[in-house]
Amino acid sequence: MSLNDNPGENDDGALPVNEDWVSTNWLKGDLRLGQVGGITVDKNDVIYIFHRADRTWSSGTFNLENVFQEQDHAPINVSTIIMVDKNGNVLKKLGEHMFYMPHGITVDHDLNIWVTDVALHQAMKFKPHSNDAELIKGTRFIPGKDSSHFCKPTSIAVLQNGDFFVADGYCNSRIVKFDLNGKKILEWGRSTIYPNMRQPLPGEFLIPHALTLTRDESLLCVADRENGRVQCFVPSNGNFSHVLSHMQSIGHTVYSIAYSNYKGGSFVLVNGPKTWNPRVQGVIVSMTGEILDRFGSTTLKAPHDVAVSTSGDAVYVAEITTDGTQAFKFIPNTSGNFRRTNIVSEDVSKLKKQSEDKGLAGAILITSACLIFSVAIVFSAFVYRRSRTQIAKDTVSLLPHSEL
Ligand code: ZN
Repeated sequence: MSLNDNPGENDDGALPVNEDWVSTNWLKGDLRLGQVGGITVDKNDVIYIFHRADRTWSSGTFNLENVFQEQDHAPINVSTIIMVDKNGNVLKKLGEHMFYMPHGITVDHDLNIWVTDVALHQAMKFKPHSNDAELIKGTRFIPGKDSSHFCKPTSIAVLQNGDFFVADGYCNSRIVKFDLNGKKILEWGRSTIYPNMRQPLPGEFLIPHALTLTRDESLLCVADRENGRVQCFVPSNGNFSHVLSHMQSIGHTVYSIAYSNYKGGSFVLVNGPKTWNPRVQGVIVSMTGEILDRFGSTTLKAPHDVAVSTSGDAVYVAEITTDGTQAFKFIPNTSGNFRRTNIVSEDVSKLKKQSEDKGLAGAILITSACLIFSVAIVFSAFVYRRSRTQIAKDTVSLLPHSEL
């Protein structure tokens, strides 16, 4: 599917600011949050905030083998999971003395809480509203890439039947599917070679950073963060379905994605701070890839995760900041006023064709270069032979006959 021209673009190619969403100062009380790695909403519209308290992820946090360098520190000693209602009232606090570097959080249909901790290299399942771990996948503090090891896992998505997916993650570039008992079913994905001189292919990731399932569970979509795109797959077998990508409007990074029931189904994305992104913002995209609206370009600084209320009428954004609002709520101040702009969906056949075209162009280029080189060699040899012959003749002609 080709990209349509967008007559509403500014001279710099970015979409004009015309946001119908406003941020609200919604969290009540003296709630002290650190950087918020993850945010999610359960079926009862309770919001779960997974934050890092006083911890930050710096250049020395991990060594080159991705081993966490602060294992001798105690785990975060305050509650890292904060449950709040849609009005910002704190309902419950969980997750103290358990985590080292909180990242992703989701809540399944039975209200079990699922989290990832990139320092522990683990994905965990907790019973509803409790600190009781029911399932732990990954080996504590030990990175790896097999059925019992992750490397900085980022996100989890859970099917209604209890099967679940782990995005793994910062180092492994794969999606791993488990059954409800934690037995590995399948995995897929490989790393995008970086820096890459071609468009990344389906199934390649440069940090699969967030997962979301559509309501009918027909698609599992992945925020392929540093490739600046969303890839959607068939949950039952991991087959690639399609990709959503539009650098001009969304940016060169997609930090997170959440399915929304708004307008019959859509996706909410957040990009991140990157010098060549159009702006830090959230984008609402239709299921077919049209950009419906944007939000947060005047408020967001470093969005890291996004969640949507059950009806889709509110969007929650987690921020990795220490000096500002770490969890935003956005609501539309006008309803039903979405702008439709450009198509951002590209199907696999187009991607493959582009790849093949590029491959064909490369092959033609290489073949042409080889031909030119060969002709040059032959021509040079011919010239050299003629010149040698001429030299020989000249020499012969200069030599006395006795020296022949
Ligand atoms: Zn992250």
